[in-house]
Amino acid sequence: MSNLSIDFSKLNGLVPAVVQDAVTRRVLMVGFMNEEAYNKTLRENKVTFYSRTKDRLWTKGETSGHYLELVEMLIDCDQDTLLVKAKPIGPTCHTGADTCFNETNQEFSLHALQALITDRKNNPQEGSYTNKLFSAGINKVAQKVGEEAVELVIEAKDNNESLFLNEAADLMYHYLVLLSAKGYSLSQVEDILKQRHGKQK
Ligand code: AMP
Ligand code: ZN
Ligand code: ZN
Ligand code: ZN
Repeated sequence: MSNLSIDFSKLNGLVPAVVQDAVTRRVLMVGFMNEEAYNKTLRENKVTFYSRTKDRLWTKGETSGHYLELVEMLIDCDQDTLLVKAKPIGPTCHTGADTCFNETNQEFSLHALQALITDRKNNPQEGSYTNKLFSAGINKVAQKVGEEAVELVIEAKDNNESLFLNEAADLMYHYLVLLSAKGYSLSQVEDILKQRHGKQK
């Protein structure tokens, strides 16, 4: 990873670092990095802050084991705030919540739903409909996507808002299960859409 040009001297030695879950895109926590913390984060791939209360370098997870594995660091428009994309090992908040912003209504996104679906694939749960789909196999899941698409098409001809939106949700859920069954992520689909974006005349 190339070093970002952060002028710590202009920032009183500390840069705020917003940590985002690289998969679910949720904001996990915010801390401060000095140059040493920034370099240590890059070197060891574990997010490290300068803790003002502890008055020392603090690697998140150093006692709990709930590390934040570095994925990438980005700088904002005027080089005074870091966006740190990370993979959390366990809950990030010291309260045991996934994020320090647990009460801020960011628990749901399509990325979070796909993360849950993939977690079901890796850790099957008794009575889970998602696991039933995985057990039935890729062809069966693909067939379900087709069925849900047809149901959506049928509802599109009518004017029942609730039925239409529910079929749209069914299709999206089964589509995400198919992606997970095939071993692909929503981000990979997004990458293709991003490449296309702006290319249209
Ligand atoms: P940890 O870095 O997870 O081993 O936790 C060590 C100590 O850091 C905890 O006892 C808390 O005081 C503090 N701490 C842990 N996680 C957070 C967090 N997300 N925000 C603020 N302080 C934290
Ligand atoms: Zn800024
Ligand atoms: Zn917290
Ligand atoms: Zn349906």
